[in-house]
Amino acid sequence: MIVALAGGVGGGRMAAGLAAVLPPRELTVVVNTGDDFEHMGFTICPDLDSVMYAVAGVNNPQTGWGRAGETWAFMDEIKRCGGEGWFNLGDRDLAVHVLRREALRRGATLSEVTRDLCTRFGIEHAIVPMSDMPVRTRVKTKSQEHSFQDYFVRLRCKPHTTGFRFAGARAARVPLMLQRSMESTQVEAVVFCPSNPFVSISPILAVPAIRAWLKQRKFPVTAVSPIVGGAAVKGPAAKMMRELGLQPSTLALVRHYGDAVDRWVIDRQDARQAAAIERLGKRVLVTDTLMTNRRKSAALARCVINFALKK
Ligand code: GDP
Ligand code: CA
Repeated sequence: MIVALAGGVGGGRMAAGLAAVLPPRELTVVVNTGDDFEHMGFTICPDLDSVMYAVAGVNNPQTGWGRAGETWAFMDEIKRCGGEGWFNLGDRDLAVHVLRREALRRGATLSEVTRDLCTRFGIEHAIVPMSDMPVRTRVKTKSQEHSFQDYFVRLRCKPHTTGFRFAGARAARVPLMLQRSMESTQVEAVVFCPSNPFVSISPILAVPAIRAWLKQRKFPVTAVSPIVGGAAVKGPAAKMMRELGLQPSTLALVRHYGDAVDRWVIDRQDARQAAAIERLGKRVLVTDTLMTNRRKSAALARCVINFALKK
């Protein structure tokens, strides 16, 4: 079994590839919930939904979030009536938020709700939130702290960040279905999807049980670099690296993760960094890592799986 850690866009693209290649029993996708927030009475789970939509093949490949063929009647009306318009809720997307709220109200856990939603989208693979309890990413700047969505959506990542905090992480417990995967002797590899290291992978690693599990691992951890040619494919990863005093490069990311990652999948554009990464004691695979469509996601997934499972 392969356990993949994922954020939204890069996580969804990689998860879709892995799910296209591996049978359901052989894949568990653990998804960041640090971006989750309460809005208009809903619990919004951006990364869980991005991964679910991507694996189901109903995602919007242009934006990287939301549904393909989305319509916006609800949002238009909310704005017309003077409601909060800074966070976009598409009509199709809204159905998921309504169903999630109903299920949570009835007492279901987030992992149960996610499993049921996935089933309705025809997904057989396990997509599991990193925790059933709320963990909320806080973005620190010199003078204050922002909630993640305030920083990400409302402020468009403009503030200069000095670090992050994952409120609730210390008390977070992993969902039962993830606990079972973690206790299984069948886990042969963990894969970090090419997700934002600071606000997608880090919050998952901040869950104590996950961190402890990885620390005493008997399997290798393979990361796919989200930095390609010194830039992020999408989103603020490179900007965050610069603000935290790191060079936006795969090599700097390798140093940042240190012992947490054993093997690296890097893009052809960064082939020249391979030798330096190997000198740090890592195995390196150089390949095309841009998942611009589902065929490319599956092709990369095949390479990543072979590399991650190599003795
Ligand atoms: P978010 O939660 O929506 O921000 O998504 P993730 O954290 O999962 O992914 C964001 C990261 O994915 C960014 O740093 C991107 O550079 C990276 N990314 C997105 N698409 C690709 C891709 O096709 N290939 C690679 N290598 N990285 C990607
Ligand atoms: Ca995210």
